[in-house]
Amino acid sequence: MYKNIATQKLKNPLFKSRGIEASILRLDLIHPQISGNKWFKLKYHLEEAVAMEKKGIVSFGGAFSNHLVALSFACREQGLRSAGFIRGEEPLQYGSSLKQMKEADMELLFVSREEYSHKEKLEEMFLAAHPDFYCVPEGGQSEMGIKGAAEIGNLCNGYSHIVCAVGTGTTITGIINGTDKSQKVIGISALKVSNKYNNTLLDFIQQYALHDNYELNFEYHFGGYAKKTGALISFMNDFYMSEKIKTDFVYTGKLLYAFNDLAMHDFFPKGASVMIIHSGGLQGNLSLGNQTLSYI
Ligand SMILES: *Cc1c(COP(=O)(O)O)cnc(C)c1O
Repeated sequence: MYKNIATQKLKNPLFKSRGIEASILRLDLIHPQISGNKWFKLKYHLEEAVAMEKKGIVSFGGAFSNHLVALSFACREQGLRSAGFIRGEEPLQYGSSLKQMKEADMELLFVSREEYSHKEKLEEMFLAAHPDFYCVPEGGQSEMGIKGAAEIGNLCNGYSHIVCAVGTGTTITGIINGTDKSQKVIGISALKVSNKYNNTLLDFIQQYALHDNYELNFEYHFGGYAKKTGALISFMNDFYMSEKIKTDFVYTGKLLYAFNDLAMHDFFPKGASVMIIHSGGLQGNLSLGNQTLSYI
């Protein structure tokens, strides 16, 4: 699917004046719903499901899950059925992500937070009733997801620094494993953590990363996962005006804000060539309504 992934140089002259060069890897252009990094994370799972002659895929996520939206469309394109366990009661009015899952014919299984916390049980029961289904872990957080995401790392050959957005940590772990240890990978967390030095995200990365050429930054969550501020939204509008690149408010808007801020504070050494991973997620902006961003 990803025949021609574009790399684009950022035009902002301030980066050059700081002695750095900034490029952006446009994974967002791969597919409107199969959000860039999600496609890489799903790739080997899809291959395995097809090889096992499964008829459908089931997975888990929240009502705003980019992962489930991506999975529903990827399955439809592969001719597979899809089912998603959704955390929380069925809402009276579907948000844009649920609408898209439905559009891609995903079977939506709403379960209470309590039931959702016992995912293994749900998985076991579902697979017993549907032996022709294959299960992908929540958020695509798996070793196969890491293996697929390593291919994003391979696309960053020759760059001294790679900056990406972090949710479950699957994508950054793949990027770490797909880069050389002389390159440095910087992850911007979209989640707020209570302890920056000790958390399950760091544990996960540590467990699967092949080298330690990475650093996690927890300073740009803007209040927490899927939270936003006026400063973030105006930055995203300005960035779109000057670079003509759309970002989403959950991951890549925060990523670009962080990159810009770090660059202006001389975080990167002179001579650095930075690759920023645009991991997609633009479908999530539909939940904002059309008053917030100057683009959708
Ligand atoms: C899901 C997502 C991420 C986070 O990826 P993880 O592998 O969970 O860390 C980053 N960016 C976008 C746009 C996403 O949709």
